[in-house]
Amino acid sequence: MQEDLKLFQKISEKLLNSEQNKGVVEPISPQKLFNTFNLDLDDEALPKSEFEQLLTDVVLNTPRTSTKLFFNQLFGGRNPKGTLGELLAVMLNNSMYTYKVGGPQVGIEKNIIKKVCQMIGYGDQADGTFPPGGSMSNFMGMLMARDRKNRTIKQEGVSQKLIIYTSEASHYSITKNASFGGIGVGQIRSVKTNQFGQMDVSHLQELIHQDKTNNLEPFFVNATAGTTVLGAFDDIKAIHEVIKDDDIWLHVDGAYCGSVIFSKHYKHLVEGVELSDSFSFNAHKMLGVPLSCSIIVTQDKRDLKHSFSCDANYLYQTDDDDYNLGKNSLQCGRRNDALKFWTLWKAVGTKGLEELVNQQFKLADTAINYIKNHPDYKLHSYENSVSVCFNYKNVDPKDLCNSLYKDGELMVGYGSFNNETFVRLVTINSGNSEEDILNFFKVLESYEAENKLEEITA
Ligand SMILES: *Cc1c(COP(=O)(O)O)cnc(C)c1O
Repeated sequence: MQEDLKLFQKISEKLLNSEQNKGVVEPISPQKLFNTFNLDLDDEALPKSEFEQLLTDVVLNTPRTSTKLFFNQLFGGRNPKGTLGELLAVMLNNSMYTYKVGGPQVGIEKNIIKKVCQMIGYGDQADGTFPPGGSMSNFMGMLMARDRKNRTIKQEGVSQKLIIYTSEASHYSITKNASFGGIGVGQIRSVKTNQFGQMDVSHLQELIHQDKTNNLEPFFVNATAGTTVLGAFDDIKAIHEVIKDDDIWLHVDGAYCGSVIFSKHYKHLVEGVELSDSFSFNAHKMLGVPLSCSIIVTQDKRDLKHSFSCDANYLYQTDDDDYNLGKNSLQCGRRNDALKFWTLWKAVGTKGLEELVNQQFKLADTAINYIKNHPDYKLHSYENSVSVCFNYKNVDPKDLCNSLYKDGELMVGYGSFNNETFVRLVTINSGNSEEDILNFFKVLESYEAENKLEEITA
């Protein structure tokens, strides 16, 4: 093991150095990939030196999500304390289903969940878990809603038309989850959005009314805190107002921007979250914890138990169920996603997490101001969002993003809203400075000025 740890250290140092020198790698096309590296699996062992070389080559040619030229995704950067926790979790290789195997790690996970529940104003009966991602957090919310609507479904299956409401700007996992959960994609009502990309609450009200008139069963509203393209926040309070007299579960999908709960200055964006039935967020997005680190919490732990517990004598042999976390989860064996969040939180305090969030909005302001002050740009996003959407001159945003990627200049993506397509700069890497944001525009502008731009069909 010692030898492999040394190799790990060696390759990591090379990566860090290389990232400093060049933030982006030139992409290798899928057609060339298998001729570039020996990825084949053979009967014979690879000689040690070749193994080291190959591993190094692959690592150094992998897209660099941690660098100052990566703006492509709703995550980015490398938080050293979070990375430390992740590496230790790998060394420990626990599984989180039982206290017997998780030990103190169970306490770490439970305390994060407890603290999050307190922060958002959920009561003493609240609880939660770490699902394998934001999509699966949404799935768990939907399943709890389904099973609360009808306690017999767990045993009998779904036999009525249960209706889901989510905005047209919400995440595509809602669609997948509707089919996984036996609800059916046809039972999703796509609620219109207003000009800011937020759910149109009067349209929601209309749709619910129609469905009730038709004897259908509305059971789940998904509100989004940070929509994937514009980063818009649905008005949780207004949504709750519409459904409060009905037995409809309100889930808040905060995968992208739910971490605003850590900032005194920005938590008003999820005002009313305490009125929701479940809330989820990805600590691997705004908080910069290594992938993946997702949390869902719910007001009433009995809903979590009802939907996800199942007896298994071969597994649960010791300790109280409150400490056997497998009774709350989708999976059986479950990796430890809590330790990396805890190491970061311990190291910087809640105030430090707040600074991470605030920094991202500050960087977004830097970008927005730059765009507003430069007539070659057109802004497409609104305030209080870390997705800065814009167009440059008359350049096709798809060509711009794809061409910058192909030439290994920087990584950024595009999105669409209301029939307009634009570049989406995500300022989610708190390790970036204002200078790094200005550099983004500089790279883009000189690239265009040098006529390097090509039409690229995806
Ligand atoms: C990222 C995201 C998800 C999905 O999270 P995964 O961890 O990628 O599964 C869901 N909803 C929103 C709004 C997101 O931004």
